[in-house]
Amino acid sequence: MIDLNKICEDKNSIAISAHIRPDGDAIGSALGMYHYLKARYKEKKISVYLLDPNPLFSFLPGFEGIKAAPDDEVYDLFIALDLGEKDRLGKNKQVLENAKEVVCIDHHLNYTFLADEEHSYVIPEASSTAELVYDVIDKDVINDDAAVCIYTGIVCDTGVFQYSCTAKKTMEIAGELMTYGFDHTRVIQKAFFEKSYVQNLLLGRALLESILLMDKRVVVSMISQKILKFYEADSKDLEGVVNQLKNTKGTDVAIFMYETTTGEYKVSLRSNEKIDVARIATAFGGGGHERAAGLNLAGSYYDVVNNITALIAKQYDEQALADG
Ligand code: 5GP
Ligand code: MN
Repeated sequence: MIDLNKICEDKNSIAISAHIRPDGDAIGSALGMYHYLKARYKEKKISVYLLDPNPLFSFLPGFEGIKAAPDDEVYDLFIALDLGEKDRLGKNKQVLENAKEVVCIDHHLNYTFLADEEHSYVIPEASSTAELVYDVIDKDVINDDAAVCIYTGIVCDTGVFQYSCTAKKTMEIAGELMTYGFDHTRVIQKAFFEKSYVQNLLLGRALLESILLMDKRVVVSMISQKILKFYEADSKDLEGVVNQLKNTKGTDVAIFMYETTTGEYKVSLRSNEKIDVARIATAFGGGGHERAAGLNLAGSYYDVVNNITALIAKQYDEQALADG
């Protein structure tokens, strides 16, 4: 475990950041850390740098202060959250490069070395980075604002305490956080279930056009740029689609992709215990967790599906061999 307070004590400026296309865990962890540090060190300069945060999380305190990082700032400390690789910072990477010291708190499987041992707290088994943020902060300095942000991070990365990454400890931390002054029912509704009308239409469309492959064990769907334009939507309106696809009874893997530019796709993978999707994503330069991972691929829709299903087939074959 890192000694966060010791590391922060002599720093005048601290930048907090997380991966591009920040999800609820990235935003919740970053804002939770921000509120904690602000409460503890009133005199320090503390900034939260995230690229294009989803307005879905605008109910979180501090959301309006999130910015993209200016290239020329030099911080005494950079806290990298929910981030295993430098490149996943996008254009915020320069602030990390400029920083005098780096702390890393993460739970990704393919974590690459970003900070030394004294400055790293990386636990792939943890439900969320938010849970790890809770571990490293002083419990008696947590305020309502920090609590609601950390709780939101946990809720999002556990799928409301549903996924197998949810541990007894996760529930204990969530239980502690619930004792603070925020509406936990509203958090779950806002962060996880509530959809705009257009988001529901896109979800409906993705479900309607989904196909089953590989003996109905894999469900696939895609949203093109044309469709996004038609609904005047963007990729942030597709949050949760892949999870709904994964709810298809009998499937081991859900593949959901959307077109980022012509012939390029952002792919989200979800699975159960039978398939390790982190392995598949990593093979194509992406990453994530065993049961939730992502990657970018160029090619036609069919190329992308073929490339991914080939690696799923390989895992089924390996299992068949192992089972004799
Ligand atoms: P999602 O499918 O929700 O975008 O991401 C699922 C998980 O995979 C998250 O933990 C996310 O950080 C990770 N992930 C998604 N896309 C990428 C990617 O392109 N590269 C890496 N390294 N991880 C990704
Ligand atoms: Mn996470």
